[in-house]
Amino acid sequence: MCSVCGTSKSESEVMDDSSAANHPHRRTHLSITPTEQARLLDLSNDAIIVRDVNNRIIYWNHGATEIYGWTRDEAIGQDLHHLLHTEFEIPLEQLIIRLHQHDRMEGEVVQVTRDGRRRTLWSRWALDRDADGRPGAILTTYNDITARKQLEAERERLYEAERAARTEAEAALKIREQFLSIASHELRTPLTALIGFVHLLSTAGQNPDRVSSLTVRITQQTQRLNTLINQMLDVSRLQHGQFVLERQMIDLSGVVVEVVEAFRAMQELNPHHPLEVHTADASVLVLGDPHRLEQVLHNLLSNAVKYSPAGGVVRVRVGQTATDAIVEVADQGIGISLEAQARLFEPFYRAQNVGQISSGFGLGLHIVGEIVQRHGGRMEVESTEGQGSTFRVLLPRHTNAS
Ligand code: ADP
Repeated sequence: MCSVCGTSKSESEVMDDSSAANHPHRRTHLSITPTEQARLLDLSNDAIIVRDVNNRIIYWNHGATEIYGWTRDEAIGQDLHHLLHTEFEIPLEQLIIRLHQHDRMEGEVVQVTRDGRRRTLWSRWALDRDADGRPGAILTTYNDITARKQLEAERERLYEAERAARTEAEAALKIREQFLSIASHELRTPLTALIGFVHLLSTAGQNPDRVSSLTVRITQQTQRLNTLINQMLDVSRLQHGQFVLERQMIDLSGVVVEVVEAFRAMQELNPHHPLEVHTADASVLVLGDPHRLEQVLHNLLSNAVKYSPAGGVVRVRVGQTATDAIVEVADQGIGISLEAQARLFEPFYRAQNVGQISSGFGLGLHIVGEIVQRHGGRMEVESTEGQGSTFRVLLPRHTNAS
């Protein structure tokens, strides 16, 4: 039996030298005919293609037909890279120069099959030269590595997803740890003050000024405790996907006026921060959660006052553009460095220049940023250290067309 073509020979033929010599696949003289060579090359799973100096295909094996779908007859005479839409990592002209320098080369290419599928292939090029060393045909084998590349890409994607999940879990853990250490400290401070003031109140007797001043302080500390606890609850809701907006059509000017009134009442005893309000002439409509937008404004106003220890006017302005409803809160306080501005909306972030001014969690702006973002809006900050800050809330404006 011939190992190449499977033809069986009779015993007498095997014994007969002339019969063996006539068989097309005889192995006795360790040489094979061009037809045999072509047939052997057709056994390869790889595409084996030879092209002339003008890139015209002059040889195309069966493996090439298997990979690309073009038959030998269709492929012969065609421009190889035109037929297969070959995409190289570097331009073809440079590849040819390299090939002429080294005679051999390999690399990854992307090609398109007859039915439009993109395949990734590992190609090996060998340059044939004539007796005078002039470059002639190029033999290239293409090994289809599409499945392997897809597997690698999928593995990489899974690895990335796992890494992202791990980073997220680590960040959540870090936030929780910060949360616990800051919370215990920040909650204890107003609580200790409260205990002290209540004790003083019990000994204040009939002195009305003393009673009134202590009552104000007790109210302030209670409010501070209330704010801290609410911020903790909000962050927990945000983290657990339980932060729900209840939206309705509202006039932003109305919300601003109400919050400013309430804030003024609270600030009655604070003459250092006059509040100026400029609302728009026309109504500024947004589809928003009034309670949460009040919270945003209240937070920005509290910060404007808190971070202006030397006093100064706090200006609130409501306006609109063709697309945005805008609320702006500007103060003349300590301002924020550029470096700090980039991190203001991170949870627990507090700029260095706050020093001992006032305590806080560093959560207020994080919550503000989340609320605004969940309304489809964005925040802008302009500030110069030592001169003041402007916080701008931009929300998608509701027009009759929207
Ligand atoms: P908190 O006031 O509890 O620290 P916030 O999240 O409200 O937390 O603010 C984060 C930080 O941003 C503050 O600690 C402060 O450094 C800075 N900041 C916020 N508002 C102002 C402002 N109006 N002027 C100067 N700095 C501000």
